[in-house]
Amino acid sequence: MKADFECIVRDNTPWMLTYVRNRISNKDQVEDIVQEVWLKAYRAYDKYTEAGKLKPWLMRICQNTVRSYYSSSERTVLVSLDVERDENDPLYNCLSASLTPEEIYLKDELLREVLSAVNKLPDEQREIVTLRYIWGFPVNETAKITGIPTGSVKSKSHYALKELKKHFGIKERFKGDRIMKCTDIRKYLFMYALGKTSAERSKEIEEHVKECEVCSKALTALKNLVPHINVDDDVEYAHCLVHIPEIDAIYIGIRSRENHEEINKKLKELNGDISQEENMMRSVWGKIAELKCYFDHDGNELPWRIIGEDETHNYAKVDRIERVYENNWQYCMLTSPTGSEKKLFDYVPSEEVPGLFLGDAGETFNVGTPMKTMRYQAVPANAKNIKIRRGNGVIDCDTYKFAYSDRFICDDDKIALEYTFELDN
Ligand SMILES: [Zn+2]
Repeated sequence: MKADFECIVRDNTPWMLTYVRNRISNKDQVEDIVQEVWLKAYRAYDKYTEAGKLKPWLMRICQNTVRSYYSSSERTVLVSLDVERDENDPLYNCLSASLTPEEIYLKDELLREVLSAVNKLPDEQREIVTLRYIWGFPVNETAKITGIPTGSVKSKSHYALKELKKHFGIKERFKGDRIMKCTDIRKYLFMYALGKTSAERSKEIEEHVKECEVCSKALTALKNLVPHINVDDDVEYAHCLVHIPEIDAIYIGIRSRENHEEINKKLKELNGDISQEENMMRSVWGKIAELKCYFDHDGNELPWRIIGEDETHNYAKVDRIERVYENNWQYCMLTSPTGSEKKLFDYVPSEEVPGLFLGDAGETFNVGTPMKTMRYQAVPANAKNIKIRRGNGVIDCDTYKFAYSDRFICDDDKIALEYTFELDN
């Protein structure tokens, strides 16, 4: 069902005015441009079919209109510096909640400085920073609005934030950077807990968790959990999955017994480049998760790429690995797909019993050879009466408890992790 066009105009004009006002220097033109946007939107509305994506669609029209305004007039300042007190401006809103006039003045000054720095960035970076960090669009929508591929949006954001940091002479405090830092740091928490990160990376992580409570909690729990993850040497194949819903991270370890001497000989011949070796280090992922990074036994991050997909799965392949071991571990980290609102498996409150939560960490299927599987899911440290339906226990890891199931599965076996627990309000 398409919403009534009049309602759309009423709901979206305020942010549009702010959006345009912050992008052009000639304030007399703002309303004319917005009017032009609505005219274009009205004409195209019949053809607009993407349900739920109205705002990015309007944003795109807005942006194109501003662009054509620039191509037809003298280009001066793109991001205006005189910020108005517009309550529909998300940036102004987040800065001005219950502040004294003095604080508002200081925040406005800060805002001016930030915008002035943003304004000095190259065109695409400025656009991306504005959309992602000022307007709060996720990466995939930013990509859609700008027509820049997702990967480039990420890398350009990264460079832009680096520039901004340099400009302000700030190391850790810039908000956008801090956001990036958490997602970056979380890739490596399990590797750190295993003692497999480089000295440099370890230092970054230690610095970060000093300031970041959520990452710190996850790391403490992982460090306490690691000694419980044991696989005997004679086990041929093992799979372990550690899920921490609060940081949207799944850490996976896979251990296999390798014909390591032969493989290492080949790797040496290839100089580690296995990009042409179709069957080496291939993997399959259910589309409920997005692969973030891959590590070898020693904790080196490995380059990988998606080589194909079907409706439910992505196929990935590692392109380079230096060596393997007889009992060889490889690791990776996954999160919910970018931009998806549905989280990976999680625990959810019961609809019938207040205070009761239902935990579910999905299933692992046997991959053809008998394997030991271990699944762990973090629940709050104050969870009580944890009842595991199938599987076998709970490990208290200080900042979280881990519900787990672990056993051998073979043939068509699969293992699930389902449980319930209670939380006080
Ligand atoms: Zn963090």
